[in-house]
Amino acid sequence: MLFGRTDRKPIKILDKQVAEWKYTTCGYCSTGCSIQVGLDTEGKAVATRGNAAADVNRGKLCIKGIFEHELFDAAGRGDAPLMRDKAYEAFQKTDWDTAFDKTASEIKRIQETYGKDSFAIVSTGQLLTEEFYSLGKLARGCIGTNNYDGNTTLCMASAVSGYKRSFGSDGPPGCYEDFEHTECLIAFGSNLPEQHPIIYWRLKEALEKRKFPLIVVDPRVTMLAQFADMHLPITPGTDVVLINSLMYVILDEGLEDRAYIDAHTNGIEEVEALVKDYNPIAASKICGIDEDTIRTVARLYAKAGAAMSIWTMGINQSTHGSDGVVDINNLNLITGNIGKPGGTSLSITGQCNAMGTREWSSCSGLPGYRYLENEADRQEIADFWGIDKEFFPEKRGLAQTDIFPAIETGQIKGLWLVATNPMTSMPNTSRIRKTLEKLEFLVVQDSYQDVETNQYSHMYFPAAVWAEKEGCFTNTERRVNIVRQVVQPKGDSKPDFWIFKEMAKRFPNGEKIHFPDTPAGAFEEMKQLSKGDSRTLDISGMSHDKIEQAAGIQWPFREGAEGLKGDQRLYTDGHFQTKSGKANLIPIVFRDNNECPDEQYPFWMNSGRVVEHFHTRTRTGKIGNCNKFSPTPYMEMNPDAARDLGVEHQSYVRIASRRGDAVVMVQLTHRVPRNMVFIPFHFHDCVNRVSLGLLDPHSRQPAFKQCAVRIEPVDQALAAQLNAERRTF
Ligand code: SF4
Repeated sequence: MLFGRTDRKPIKILDKQVAEWKYTTCGYCSTGCSIQVGLDTEGKAVATRGNAAADVNRGKLCIKGIFEHELFDAAGRGDAPLMRDKAYEAFQKTDWDTAFDKTASEIKRIQETYGKDSFAIVSTGQLLTEEFYSLGKLARGCIGTNNYDGNTTLCMASAVSGYKRSFGSDGPPGCYEDFEHTECLIAFGSNLPEQHPIIYWRLKEALEKRKFPLIVVDPRVTMLAQFADMHLPITPGTDVVLINSLMYVILDEGLEDRAYIDAHTNGIEEVEALVKDYNPIAASKICGIDEDTIRTVARLYAKAGAAMSIWTMGINQSTHGSDGVVDINNLNLITGNIGKPGGTSLSITGQCNAMGTREWSSCSGLPGYRYLENEADRQEIADFWGIDKEFFPEKRGLAQTDIFPAIETGQIKGLWLVATNPMTSMPNTSRIRKTLEKLEFLVVQDSYQDVETNQYSHMYFPAAVWAEKEGCFTNTERRVNIVRQVVQPKGDSKPDFWIFKEMAKRFPNGEKIHFPDTPAGAFEEMKQLSKGDSRTLDISGMSHDKIEQAAGIQWPFREGAEGLKGDQRLYTDGHFQTKSGKANLIPIVFRDNNECPDEQYPFWMNSGRVVEHFHTRTRTGKIGNCNKFSPTPYMEMNPDAARDLGVEHQSYVRIASRRGDAVVMVQLTHRVPRNMVFIPFHFHDCVNRVSLGLLDPHSRQPAFKQCAVRIEPVDQALAAQLNAERRTF
């Protein structure tokens, strides 16, 4: 008897007919992979491959990067500006001048009637850095609203806030190469294999060369937890209890780095006093990790020659996300693990240019990590842009998550959304829908006109996508890489850079502020603003060409720097960006203020990513292979809990919270404990119909990952029909 196929037909790799490969950088996650896009003889993008010479990805890409060239011709792209008087009416195609004139006159009308700040702008982490810098000029320097923020408030605001509180400045201090030096790594709420597959590959490669303990703190048995040496299935929202308890053990057993603490930090007495309340026995009752495990992890971490912490949304998306980041920094400061190879506090950022918006967009301040609250900073930027300093507010306005409630209360009447999709991304969808319907004027600027939020707009600006334009991204490890233009923008869509420049001409200060013609020109301005020995964010030694040559350069990279390599780490000399030059050790008290399961809503609901999709699927929902491998909103449920409720694998259920409900397909798995369910956050009309999203007091970031829900039966035929309709997107 023969096994296998007798008629062998070897798999053929189709010849893509690539005539030319062009350099660019991936536009999805913050890993920052260098990409080459293959063009055929007619200039059509037909393939993508990783750039083998790039230090970040060394030739590798994840599924999103591999199919990224399909974005250019994906369904739903906008190719002309659209306008209408009322939301839901049919759009009329228009030309750019008419669209800009109408938008500018509506902004002016709203500001004259209700005040300058009654028109808000919410941006993204997806634009190119030069576009962020130009949008900052337009929003802060020309339109003059103080209610201007980025959607990075939904993902990285807690990391920014925590870094500022601890180190006096934003900026992740470590790099991927730290994996190759560390002797112990704790990952807090970070599922690298699905969120940042290529960073995970770097970690795995380092582990294969040299074994070190990998400890994962996560309520769910994530893919990273499966590969870990120790998995700590923490009770949701209790991270600071665990970290305080780790510090209790370290300080109690004299394992801290006293020389580093004395030389480079302030505040150890307050932290020592606070953590006395978090002995491992007391802490274990709150955070759900047993006493022995807490002691073992504390000793492993403190005794390692170099130890590092990484984290993502499990820490940031919490009512105490900023406190969680500060506490991770506390842990690393007391063990002397900042600024040395393998010793760091490394937030793994989310979007491809979440860093670029933090650095240069002026969302929460002024360009180059300058503060609105600092008079000298306001004066410097006003002089550089050629406008009156008084045009700037003296403190930042509302964060994105406060802008929507301000629309509800009538404080804000007009909104411009740039490459962000709150109808899917914000907590409590039904509330956001009502909020958008209240606006007198809504502009949606996006590469895709079928983005859900566009249903509520009065004006639609079609933006060029990814490598239809040119400029830089900064990745998780402060590496600036360049997106080269590979193809022309679709139809009459335009680069965001051009859109901001043209809009500026409609405002008086637009005559005074210089908007360069090219992204390279804007980059030169940013270089000038970044110069200075005391600035960590110094890009003055870079140029677009040098960045491509090096396949990315980390900042700081100062004018006159030799070679093509920036500083891999910040704070290597133990000098921080605070007034004293020392890092702040800040005692963090645990506050239990989130919604927890109860009799009525007995399950924790947790949310997160799947590898095939990015954010609200605006792009990946259009890519055949990404959609094929992950087409359906699903919910992970523990088989024991399912048996109690009579729920079957691959059946549909209704998940309900105090805010709303959603229908999902059940996947039974022991990844989640009996009292928890997990849902990917990418799908429209799904997890955010249910989520609560209480806000962190420092960062204003929502606690997406914790709320209480119940599971109910649902008519299977109806649910299947609903799901089939949803799949058509
Ligand atoms: Fe793109 Fe991130 Fe995938 Fe790299 S890991 S290819 S940057 S999505």
